Amino acid sequence: MQHCAAEIQRVIATAKGAIPSGVASRSAVEPRAAAGYPAATSIFGEPPVQAQRPIRLVDYSPYPFTLKAVDLTFRLAAGATRVLARLDLVARVPGASLVLDGVGLRLIVAAINGDALTGADYLLTETGLTIHAAALPEGPFTLTTEVEINPAANTTMQGLYISNGMYCTQCEAEGFRHITFYPDRPDVMAPFRVRVETPDAANPLPVLLSNGNPLGQGPGWAEWDDPWPKPAYLFALVAGDLTAYPGSFTTMSGRNVALNIYVRPGDEGRCAFAMGALKRAMAWDERTYGREYDLDIFNIVAVDDFNMGAMENKGLNIFNSKWVLASPETATDNDFERIEGIIAHEYFHNWTGNRITCRDWFQLCLKEGLTVYRDQQFTADMRSAPVKRIDDVLTLRARQFREDQGPLAHPVRPDHYVEINNFYTATVYEKGAEVIGMLKSLVGEGGYRAALDLYFSRHDGEAATIEDWLKVFEDATGRDLTQFKRWYTDAGTPRVTVKDSYENGTLTLNVSQSTPPTPGQPEKAPRVIPLALGLLSPNGDEVLPTTLLELTEAHQTFTFPGLAARPILSLNRGFSAPVVLTHSASPAEQAFVMAHDTDPFTRWEAGRTLARNGLCAMVNGADAAPDHIDALGRILRDNSLDPAFRALCLRLPGEEEIAQTLYDAGQTPDPDAIHDARGRLATALARTHETDLAGTYTAMRVPGPYTPDAGPAGQRALRLACLGLLNRLDGGAHAKALFAQADNMTESLAALACLIEEGQADDATATFKTRWQADRLVMDKWFTVQLAHATPDQTPALAKTLAALPEFEWKNPNRYRALMGGLSANHAGFHQASGAGYRFYADWLLRVDPLNPQIAARLSTAFETWPRYDAARQTLIRAELGRMAAQPGLSRDLTEMVTRLATAKA
Ligand SMILES: [Zn+2]
Repeated sequence: MQHCAAEIQRVIATAKGAIPSGVASRSAVEPRAAAGYPAATSIFGEPPVQAQRPIRLVDYSPYPFTLKAVDLTFRLAAGATRVLARLDLVARVPGASLVLDGVGLRLIVAAINGDALTGADYLLTETGLTIHAAALPEGPFTLTTEVEINPAANTTMQGLYISNGMYCTQCEAEGFRHITFYPDRPDVMAPFRVRVETPDAANPLPVLLSNGNPLGQGPGWAEWDDPWPKPAYLFALVAGDLTAYPGSFTTMSGRNVALNIYVRPGDEGRCAFAMGALKRAMAWDERTYGREYDLDIFNIVAVDDFNMGAMENKGLNIFNSKWVLASPETATDNDFERIEGIIAHEYFHNWTGNRITCRDWFQLCLKEGLTVYRDQQFTADMRSAPVKRIDDVLTLRARQFREDQGPLAHPVRPDHYVEINNFYTATVYEKGAEVIGMLKSLVGEGGYRAALDLYFSRHDGEAATIEDWLKVFEDATGRDLTQFKRWYTDAGTPRVTVKDSYENGTLTLNVSQSTPPTPGQPEKAPRVIPLALGLLSPNGDEVLPTTLLELTEAHQTFTFPGLAARPILSLNRGFSAPVVLTHSASPAEQAFVMAHDTDPFTRWEAGRTLARNGLCAMVNGADAAPDHIDALGRILRDNSLDPAFRALCLRLPGEEEIAQTLYDAGQTPDPDAIHDARGRLATALARTHETDLAGTYTAMRVPGPYTPDAGPAGQRALRLACLGLLNRLDGGAHAKALFAQADNMTESLAALACLIEEGQADDATATFKTRWQADRLVMDKWFTVQLAHATPDQTPALAKTLAALPEFEWKNPNRYRALMGGLSANHAGFHQASGAGYRFYADWLLRVDPLNPQIAARLSTAFETWPRYDAARQTLIRAELGRMAAQPGLSRDLTEMVTRLATAKA
């Protein structure tokens, strides 16, 4: 699966030059009973006490039956869909009862080998159907069931539901149990045959899709056959009035694959980019990993109401429409890049997730960490590798480091959960990808490829574990990964401290590591940390090329003899390890690294450190540091550098990042003072470099028609970074002109953001709304940009005003996230001292929770940083958490989250 989190960050980053932490929003959905059906409480029993009893990794046991084949028939009707299931089973454990999951299902009939079961043969509960061992024959048998479900009443967007008249499904993680009685766990894999019927002649649905290859179709029906064994979470069904944007791909063995992107009629004109991205991803996976597609057809469907970014169902990926539909007028450069990355991510899952899946949901990082790593590699190859790396580190720090340092910290492979939907997190995804990057650094390119080849050949068709994954690296490379495994089992971001001394031509590094306590893990043993470093001579030459130090102990010493002069250190090149690094480099040394290093990441990082430290000093009353301002001027003027890289260097750390830095240093961050300091630094930068900024702004104008390619996108990024600074001086004059002229959403939205920041946006906001009123995806941006860039003291009131508009269609997850994410991304606005931001936010979590608990739970992470702030703000946030916890009927999802959030030590 993929998430939508980055969207909010990027809307804001466009003009403000910051990546705020924004919202996290990846995962599947949550059970709710369809109207008129038994209440779907929890799979553990009645809330609240029992519902919070966790599932534990140590309790895993294999399913006692083998499922040979699955045959499903769907008779679609909005309020009463019939699902006929035929499961071919054989017991692996003699005398076992057959336990099937099922929630919100009305059982019509169940039969074994054609004989209907009676009430004495089974136990039917709110969470499933258990057929007693005595009712099961020896040897293979067939279970048939018929159930009725109500897609029209399904607001959770899990299982089978309806979006704009179109039937669609979302089954990861545990949605299939809302469709039929089934062993809904990823280690039960089987081939599926599916028949879809639409008996309602008054409501014909021309497109009927499921997984696999088409078997046949006629008026009102279609049949599909998926020969590859898969777990139920990869099941998908789509039925609706859709139009196909077609394409084709010839695989490396010469097979022709039909490609289709299905959208609502009228949206075909916005599919070309996604189709191109899909073909690039298919070719890249063949070239890079030797992985070929394995069906005759690959379908993508765009859905407006979707809880996450996209879902990798076998042969039938379902996407949030915002990560498919793109045109220059409606999508930003960042949207295009994200679409390419997400299309690739879901496609790559065909091997890392589908052909080899997870044994249980604790192993989620096995498919997600690896697939995120693969999509990052892909984007780096398609675009600029250094820029992609910096972007990924920004996201990691903004979301995962923050998670790792707060009450929600958990290992990349958690060992217990209450609601698995709450563990589709930055830690599982982004840190999971970092762990794979470290593995690759340790075993080298060749070792990595050999291990992956072994992984694909050894585990194809299986449900695997992290132990299986590490074993292929051990077997392929001979390396012992016992200590490395701590990256999967221990939460928390390691702190690495480097102290250097120089004497008689020898540099000595004393390196120490430690990891702070996290919930449930007070003590941490040292990890294997691959720390890449280089050394620069005082004249700027590289005297030691990139070298990998392997940290394995709490304290270690490394020496580098034979040096002619004391070198300057270039540490954690390429961000080789996801750690917080402390090294007492002076501002002058940092400026030197920024100017001379051969590693682009470290150059950027040196500038970022200067900016962060300078901003923290400014919060405490200092003036802007001249070293930093001068260094940024040199980067701005250096035309030999990639414009996208220069743009990243010009973007100041966000207020959220400054708050975290202050907190790490033992201070209590004041959101208003941070907002003020950041503004003063931007103004000082703009004053010093006004001429260069204006010149660059003009020089970076991209002539000709818009293309989303990396080159022009980088120029626009630099141009808009200049605009954001010039905006501090000209009262919105440049932005006003750009807003009037822009022929693409990237510039239009950035200009609007600048005008909002300057309080000059009344006309532009109205113009933008009038122009885009009919476009759901652009209107989402309209909501976010206003809140994210509003003056902090006006932000909560503005959120209220926007929420009262008829356009705030809050049951649509994208629209809801647009408003809530815009508010929480405005650091000083959200944390306004009155607590009005907190109260509004909690009110709306409570409002959405009964309909869509998954979204409520995910967005509750906006409160995860509360231990950072002053006593008054802490009291206000804890009061909101307490108010939510006391709400009668709160979902299991949100209950787990507010409980975890509130029990953190202050
Ligand atoms: Zn995924």
